Amino acid sequence: MSILFENCDLLLRGEDGVYSTLHGFLGVRGDTIDYIGTEKPTGEYEEHKSMEHKLLMPGLINCHNHSPMVLLRGVGSGLPLQEWLFDKVFPIEDRLVPEDIAAGSRLAILEMLASGTTSFSDMYFFPAETVAAVAEAGMKANISRCVQCFDENQTVEQNTQIPQSVELFEKYHNAENGRIRIDFSIHAEYTCKPHIVRAYSELCKAHGGRMHIHLSETQREVNECIARYGKSPVAWFEELGTLDSPTAAAHCVAVSDEDIAILKRHGVNVIHNPTSNLKLGSGFAPVRKLMDAGVNLALGTDGAASNNNLDMFEEMHLADIMPCGYRHDPTEVSSAEVLDMATVNGARLQGRSDTGVLAVGKKADIIALDLDKPHLYPNFDTPALLTCAAHSSDVVLTMVDGKILYENGEYKTLDREKVFYEARAAVKRLYA
Ligand SMILES: [Zn+2]
Repeated sequence: MSILFENCDLLLRGEDGVYSTLHGFLGVRGDTIDYIGTEKPTGEYEEHKSMEHKLLMPGLINCHNHSPMVLLRGVGSGLPLQEWLFDKVFPIEDRLVPEDIAAGSRLAILEMLASGTTSFSDMYFFPAETVAAVAEAGMKANISRCVQCFDENQTVEQNTQIPQSVELFEKYHNAENGRIRIDFSIHAEYTCKPHIVRAYSELCKAHGGRMHIHLSETQREVNECIARYGKSPVAWFEELGTLDSPTAAAHCVAVSDEDIAILKRHGVNVIHNPTSNLKLGSGFAPVRKLMDAGVNLALGTDGAASNNNLDMFEEMHLADIMPCGYRHDPTEVSSAEVLDMATVNGARLQGRSDTGVLAVGKKADIIALDLDKPHLYPNFDTPALLTCAAHSSDVVLTMVDGKILYENGEYKTLDREKVFYEARAAVKRLYA
């Protein structure tokens, strides 16, 4: 399949991180961008799309999600993290069956495709169901089965989640032409035990896997970890060997300068989740400090139960303005840096060097926004237009690996009615 997008604005990123726009043409052949230019290319394309007043940009990458948690949207609102998680969320999660995960993953994918997300990183239960949903939908995802342990007497051999996680990796890593990648995952310091973390981290390294964890989300988590082990969660994971694999660490709200030095030393990727941190009252991640230290910073929504949606445009908006507000400095974070977080930095975190920017030779993971809207005119600063003025409802097209998955409200791969029917059945079952 080949498609030529004609007469559109294209969001391009220079090697120096400076964004610019070009009015012209973008060609897609197979799963790859094969032409970008102001002149119409001479090669033949099977399909031509006139994109007047539309802007093409790289698809957004949601680097921290628990996609089936859309079924828990709104559960436990108003509670701090520990109470929200242990008193409200865990009891419902104990009732989840694979059908719920299948339904929740598909509902989440509908939401993500319509709001311009082309790839996400997921950490949850029954992940083979999420793998099947992503395969059917045509999206990209780094999926993991998270490991937990609440019993210090449990041996490594008795932990059932570790073999499930390894089996998932062996079965599905790089499936669907690499669209699906499998990560390793430890839920958090406070939901696991050191001997399990050490053994599982060694397995991750031996498999050449990537690790996805929650890290230093609140000051309370850090204080309790110091009381238990005499060190911060960052230092704890470092000592147990977790950070020896490429690691994606969600939150990092309560990190010290020493923690940041450890994160940098191990090349840990940090996922900033501003909405979740605000909603649960967790605080403000030190984004400028992390970026100045050279830490790769990506962006995520977290699960819908603590957000309460999967809208990366909202996440970009908060990531742009929130640090400027709390630091009393409008230059704290730039819109271009936020665009990087949501695209190219996310691709790096997921281990996908072939996406995250519009460039010839890169995978065609592209979204189109309709600029013919009152709230998008005039445009003197495209990065700021995208992070501070655009809404996810401006997305009119979502393409992954050269295939259009969503266009003008229509889903091309998933049956919207069927997804809703199954989601309603799951909600009825869960909350009966
Ligand atoms: Zn999370």
